[in-house]
Amino acid sequence: MRFQRCLLQCAMVMASMLGSITVSLAQTVTHIGMLEPDTVSRMWSFIKDKTQAPADLPVPPIVVDESLPKNVRLMFEFPSQLSPETEMRIRLNPRNLMAWNNGMWHWAVGHEMTHYAFLLRENGWQEKTWYDNQLKHHCDYEFMTITQKLAELLWEIYESSEDRLHMYIEANKSCRHQPNQ
Ligand SMILES: [Zn+2]
Repeated sequence: MRFQRCLLQCAMVMASMLGSITVSLAQTVTHIGMLEPDTVSRMWSFIKDKTQAPADLPVPPIVVDESLPKNVRLMFEFPSQLSPETEMRIRLNPRNLMAWNNGMWHWAVGHEMTHYAFLLRENGWQEKTWYDNQLKHHCDYEFMTITQKLAELLWEIYESSEDRLHMYIEANKSCRHQPNQ
């Protein structure tokens, strides 16, 4: 079994179910037309600033993965002690494209990138073969503040109060439903 994080439905998926299409961020944009590189970069700069990350730390790999279970919209996974073979990446499920609009997808990717930054910070920003993950993120004050600020950042771009509210609700749901992640 692999240990994984994700936004909505989670956590354990049999390794045999996996298998993915790996594409670069730019290709992802073309492939599914939902991520804007400028918006992703803006969120990532914000997250790096708030977590005191190295300024040159690149955006984590973001891949489109049609093999994700249908009820999983996206997830962040990383090599852990139990599953060192797992790749560090954010996986997006293209089958769920219609479920959210662009603003929500960007916010969800921002949420996963915040997990990534927290994990790397816990591990001293060092590249490792597997990563320690003792800290719980979803109900952490700093994590919740950053993901709520991402909602504000996206509100400036999309100007949708409805989406902004939805993002706050999702942030609270993550804490309520998945407090151990
Ligand atoms: Zn999460």
